[in-house]
Amino acid sequence: MKSNAKPILVIGGGIAGMTAAVEAAEVGYDVILVEKEAYLGGRVVQMNRYFPKMCPPSCGFEINVRRIRQNPRITVYTLSDVEEISGQAGDFKAVLRVKPKYLTGKYPVDVSVVEKLTGERNNDFNYGMDRTKGLYFPHDMAYPHGYVIDRETLSDTDAGVLQGSMPDDAIDWEMTDEKIKVKIGAVIIAAGWKPFDATKLDTLGYGQYQNVVTNVMMERMASNNGPTGGEITRPSDGRKAMNVAFVQCAGSRDENHLPYCSAVCCMASLKQARYLRDKNENSKTTVFYIDIRTIGRLEKFYYDMLDDANISFVKGKVAAISENPDSKNLILDVEDTITRENNHPEFELVVLATGMAPNSINIKFPSELLLNDYGFIEGATNIEGIYSAGCSKHPCDVSSTTKDATAAALKAIQCLIGGEE
Ligand SMILES: Cc1cc2nc3c(=O)[nH]c(=O)nc-3n(C[C@H](O)[C@H](O)[C@H](O)COP(=O)(O)OP(=O)(O)OC[C@H]3O[C@@H](n4cnc5c(N)ncnc54)[C@H](O)[C@@H]3O)c2cc1C
Repeated sequence: MKSNAKPILVIGGGIAGMTAAVEAAEVGYDVILVEKEAYLGGRVVQMNRYFPKMCPPSCGFEINVRRIRQNPRITVYTLSDVEEISGQAGDFKAVLRVKPKYLTGKYPVDVSVVEKLTGERNNDFNYGMDRTKGLYFPHDMAYPHGYVIDRETLSDTDAGVLQGSMPDDAIDWEMTDEKIKVKIGAVIIAAGWKPFDATKLDTLGYGQYQNVVTNVMMERMASNNGPTGGEITRPSDGRKAMNVAFVQCAGSRDENHLPYCSAVCCMASLKQARYLRDKNENSKTTVFYIDIRTIGRLEKFYYDMLDDANISFVKGKVAAISENPDSKNLILDVEDTITRENNHPEFELVVLATGMAPNSINIKFPSELLLNDYGFIEGATNIEGIYSAGCSKHPCDVSSTTKDATAAALKAIQCLIGGEE
């Protein structure tokens, strides 16, 4: 343990960033954890259940939050990002940008005031499937556990209503972006992934037909704290979805879109087929796939499902989706590559299994940060002292992400020790 080591800067507070932060801090290193959203947890807290054990995201998340809260070595900045990093391994300087929160935190927010507001915004936590007011609680498990103001959504009238229902010093409208300069020894980039934009898939009807949704939307629909209260329903009419198709590799392994396999989409669809069977007992599911990729111990999850008479697997890539305008059902154009038949089955709901695209980070580094052909950042980057972890590095599941983040923490520590005078 180096006594005078500078802190490790972790960019991104998803499961990778949280893990790297607690692992480094628990061996005695100071960590600055910077998250652009108002809460930690990243995409994992938007899931309904985790494969393979099907536990809720609260399981691992709450433990990590406790470890962060209890550890004075970790400083968390939410609604923040990093503008610039300069210097060299062991002796970097970074400029953080902390966005204004407006709420001073001196008083609790009275929930009744939210109802009085009129302006609304798309709820990005639920992938735009519902809306919130300009003062909102991001989600049940949010850490930091508090309301957030979206200033752009609040009209002057709404701002006045808010101000009038709270003590004078509860809100500070004068707050602006704060720039914080920090000295750091090493950097871990854990900025994660974003869902591939399904509107780019011209023939699959996303954005055109209401009952074509994506796999991340399905996670929110299945969640009790999601936009449908945990019911898996058709967006067009709110009826329970009883006959559902999963379209695998929607945009993935396709040179026009994501040329790579995202490694988790097969397991995600199998998991979601289970949600359907649990929630709508008599529902029927068909999975259209190129190959089912369930590696290692995950294979059992797939094999167990082959015994379910209500879940079918068809080897074939879906070429196009059209809509029956009366029923709003979807008609697939798909060749069964085993029987060589061209089929046009009809479904009440279609889930596009879209892949994971890298999150871009807009930071000025000491030299250009090199990305691989797919836009991800290699684990040991081309800049000494800067490492990447989790889905910043490649698409992967939570188990691989946490191991990877622990390895990145170790690399960062080795860099600090190596820099000892
Ligand atoms: C449909 C679907 C279902 C899945 N289900 C499962 C499952 O059941 N089990 C499983 O093991 N895995 C599952 N996964 C994979 C899982 O989501 C990933 O393994 C996990 O999200 C990786 O975590 P991460 O921290 O690397 O990235 P993320 O979860 O993306 O977290 C990255 C964090 O960095 C923040 N960030 C981004 N840019 C910046 C910036 N510039 N500055 C500051 N902060 C920034 C983001 O806001 C976010 O909080 C699923 C994936 C998909 C697509």
